[in-house]
Amino acid sequence: MLIVMEQKATSKEIEAVVSAIENRGYTARPIPGGDRVSIGVLHNKGAVDASLFLGLPGVKEVIPVTRPYKLVSREFKPEDSVIRVGDIAIGKGNFTMIAGPCAIESEDQAMTTAQIVKEAGAQLFRGGAFKPRTSPYSFQGLGEEGLKILAKIRRETGMPVVTEVMDYENFDLVEEYADVIQIGTRNMQNFSLLRRAGKAKKPVLLKRGMAATIDEWLMAAEYILEGGNTQVILCERGVRTFVHHSRNTLDLSAVPFVHNESHLPVIIDPSHAAGRRDQVIPLSRAAVAVGADGLMVEVHHSPDDALSDGGQSLYPEQFKQLCENARSIFGLI
Ligand code: PEP
Ligand code: MN
Repeated sequence: MLIVMEQKATSKEIEAVVSAIENRGYTARPIPGGDRVSIGVLHNKGAVDASLFLGLPGVKEVIPVTRPYKLVSREFKPEDSVIRVGDIAIGKGNFTMIAGPCAIESEDQAMTTAQIVKEAGAQLFRGGAFKPRTSPYSFQGLGEEGLKILAKIRRETGMPVVTEVMDYENFDLVEEYADVIQIGTRNMQNFSLLRRAGKAKKPVLLKRGMAATIDEWLMAAEYILEGGNTQVILCERGVRTFVHHSRNTLDLSAVPFVHNESHLPVIIDPSHAAGRRDQVIPLSRAAVAVGADGLMVEVHHSPDDALSDGGQSLYPEQFKQLCENARSIFGLI
């Protein structure tokens, strides 16, 4: 349930409503809006009696929330959320380009690629220091050394960095270095990781599980917001289907659906969706056209030598083309 306060409600009236909610054993979550405060009621088992709050001073209306996810839903917060990373704003009409290699392999590789993507128009740099690989024999990432390289890239290029946290044990470490903490598809329902992300002081980029419904994805985001961290960016990266012509199937309709359901920004990762370079630019164009709030794309200065996901990584020239295409299409919508 959502209690919407009058525009002129005083802080005393708001506090009184919060107390009334808490006295009944529920959790009150004030949500500042454009011109008024709303107060979400959480942790209620079963329906809450609206008449308990309707007569309180400063209360305008009480709206029942029908969705299983509360804090991420538009019912709770009608306006788009903006996620701020330094002076970059993600969501609410902004288009954000995130690019970089699958994995940080060396300082040279990461720095060369960072300069290329920055010049082409990327605003944030991505790169995994901890890599979730299907095979234990594949390159697993440089770990902390990779994080230090990312910190150097931020210092030297000014680009904030996005990097994945794979487990609870390394969360503090990744949080110390990352500007945006990525939770990958395989961890979308790792609930202890989600709860820890809810306590993080940095924005979280939450990828959709490769076999997750949108409800499950939004419920995973709910864990993070429920923990207190409202800085969540959703990322559609393709779901597992029966096809063989791509690694996954990019679910473009997730974008308008999520935009209807949630105030959180949703970006698209065409690289892991396609799994092959020749589909990345066409899918990116479609992602911009469908209204995604941004793209996260794998680019390598020399994809043929990449230690992971080289086959889906763009060549520098291709990324330049993609940025130009994205800018033109974004200008049309
Ligand atoms: C990645 O972005 O590097 C990655 C491993 O992606 P996903 O979790 O979507 O497979
Ligand atoms: Mn990858």
